[in-house]
Amino acid sequence: MQESNFKIVESDIPQVSDGEVLVKNLYLSLDPYMRGRMNEGKSYAEAMRISDVMVGGTIGVVVESKSPDFKVGDIVLGYFGWQLYGLSHGRGLLKIPTSDVSLSAYLGVLGMPGTTAWVGLNMIGEPKAGETVVVSAASGAVGSVVGQLAKEKGCRAVGIAGGKVKCDYVVDELGFDACVDYKAGNLKENLLKAAPNGIDIDFENVGGEILDTVLPQLNPHARIPLCGFVSQYNVDQPYALRHFDAFLISRVKLQGFIVGEHMDLWPQANKELAQLYKSGRLKYRESIAEGLENAPKAFIGMLKGENFGKQLVKLADL
Ligand code: NDP
Repeated sequence: MQESNFKIVESDIPQVSDGEVLVKNLYLSLDPYMRGRMNEGKSYAEAMRISDVMVGGTIGVVVESKSPDFKVGDIVLGYFGWQLYGLSHGRGLLKIPTSDVSLSAYLGVLGMPGTTAWVGLNMIGEPKAGETVVVSAASGAVGSVVGQLAKEKGCRAVGIAGGKVKCDYVVDELGFDACVDYKAGNLKENLLKAAPNGIDIDFENVGGEILDTVLPQLNPHARIPLCGFVSQYNVDQPYALRHFDAFLISRVKLQGFIVGEHMDLWPQANKELAQLYKSGRLKYRESIAEGLENAPKAFIGMLKGENFGKQLVKLADL
């Protein structure tokens, strides 16, 4: 994938009909799942077609309304994709309170990625105090929340991240017990040191060689919430697991999940995440690209780890 696979297309701002609202998008969320939508083949969601607008979560402001449910100035969470304006009947639009919380947090720690961490960890991981939780892509939007939630549950939180700067942040700022830099080599030995009692939960964000290194270190009856495998989204030759036998040896439960299929858990997750965030116990950081024209570069960079925290694109000022 390269930037030339993307094209900016200009068109008129749509006319608003009865019952509709026009939203000016302020922030666009860039997420790894978008790469999957660019492939044909079996998946949990339909692939985009060439020339479709790229999908994506957005935060925007209502600039024109012919709907009784929204007024000009309302801030809304929507799914307008990679575009500056969106037209909607209101279904699927969620009003966001303009309180003390930064708006972009609703695309990150208080939005889909934070909820993903909560759902995967609690529903599949079922953490218990004293257990060891390992999470890959630990400084990222999902991983950073996983480790902090694991600490709240009384677990040992061990991150895996690319580079010393990210690892220092994960330990010093986010409060993980340890973080292993997979780019520094000796991942197996360093993971053994960071998780000396073995691994009870592997919150899997990356897949490939990192998952393969984790597998033999799993404790009996370990759980793997399979959230994603970002290391494999943009490669021609998929990585073949060598330590598949660990699933039987350690009687491991592995379950893939898609956060959008667990809407029943969102209210509880969002409430707990908001409480933790407002009390200062849930920290996060963002990488913000400026302007829609820079979205492809930021997206491709994110799939190589060039982001540091939740990747967003700022589209306009409020
Ligand atoms: P992040 O903010 O974590 O960004 C992606 C990170 O992945 C990069 O920063 C990089 O971190 C890491 N990465 C990229 N390539 C590699 C590689 N080859 N090897 C190791 N690490 C790599 O993204 P998100 O938090 O948004 O997403 C994390 C995972 O969660 C993804 O797999 C995503 O698909 C999944 N997800 C799943 C959902 C679900 O419902 N199942 C919902 C949302 C996300 P580093 O520099 O540390 O390597």
